[in-house]
Amino acid sequence: MKVIDAIQNTTETLLSFEILPPLKGKGIDSLYGAIDPLMEFSPSFVNVTYHREEYIYKKREKGFLEKVSIRKRPGTVGICAAIMNKYDVQAVPHLICGGFSKEETENALIDLNFLGIRNVLALRGDARKAEQSFVPEENGNQYASELVSQVVDMNNGKYIEEEMKEASATDFCIGVAGYPEKHFEAMSLKADLKNLKRKIDLGADYIVTQMFYDNNKYFDFVSRCRDAGINVPIIPGLKPITSLKQIKFIPKTFHLSFPEALSDALEDCKTDAEVTQVGVEWGIEQSRELMEKGVPCMHYYTMGKSGAVRKILSATH
Ligand code: FAD
Repeated sequence: MKVIDAIQNTTETLLSFEILPPLKGKGIDSLYGAIDPLMEFSPSFVNVTYHREEYIYKKREKGFLEKVSIRKRPGTVGICAAIMNKYDVQAVPHLICGGFSKEETENALIDLNFLGIRNVLALRGDARKAEQSFVPEENGNQYASELVSQVVDMNNGKYIEEEMKEASATDFCIGVAGYPEKHFEAMSLKADLKNLKRKIDLGADYIVTQMFYDNNKYFDFVSRCRDAGINVPIIPGLKPITSLKQIKFIPKTFHLSFPEALSDALEDCKTDAEVTQVGVEWGIEQSRELMEKGVPCMHYYTMGKSGAVRKILSATH
């Protein structure tokens, strides 16, 4: 089922999880180990992230350095198929512009269509770690909006080869990303919203937000979207904090801030267990309020670990 149909067919708050493909070389059982404890909560969807290649430099003889391209977490499409098969749940693959020419994107969409996958989350992706800013592939999409257009074209039976006759139309539901605290590259919230609206006007069906820790930021974002004429469902994304390392990592990496009450509580933590306790309690409060306000779906970023999300769901579901 498509995400948008599931949302429109119920007044209840749905549930979705975001998982990461296992590191290259690890079996799929490690992934199942992270998903199994969450399945009793009957998620409507499981999102599977996409991880592009990165460049690393390997030392070779005589001091030479060799630039090598590696993908640490391959397998998004295969994992979606495996999850749908094992758990009978809809998988939502993340599809990114980075590293894909338009033709490669088209071929990936053909694979997804053959597998009966009806949903995609269309994203730009970040710059490679070795690069200052995002560089699209030659003949690739530069912004998520262009990727949305490509999927919409295929939904209308329009492939890259225009002379292709009677090409079969796909039927993907398209999600896109939104940023309650602004995407870090955007000049202003207003400019970012204009770009978000472009994705919706081009045919995206719903929005999933970047994680946030202050529900007011989400409510403000929704209200700004509505004022800007963005009327699709906006799914809040939550990620419980579970380690001392994440206290610095999350704000820096995802360009967001913690509310004072949360940062005060985190400041007193000495161990990962204490951080997890605070993170789970905060996640429970956030989830309760969002559900009371009738959000369409709760989206939890699991980062491949189910423990904290399970505790939140046990308290709220
Ligand atoms: P875009 O919508 O293209 O926006 C990128 C920036 O460009 C924004 O600042 C926007 O305001 C600006 N912009 C957009 N259009 C224009 C235009 N026409 N002219 C000028 N400026 C413009 N990354 C991954 O690599 N893999 C994943 O699986 C993944 N999953 C994610 C899931 C969610 C729910 C979220 C919120 C993010 C995810 N990301 C993932 C991260 C995402 O790829 C990055 O945040 C990326 O930097 C932006 O992606 P986007 O789709 O929002 O880009």
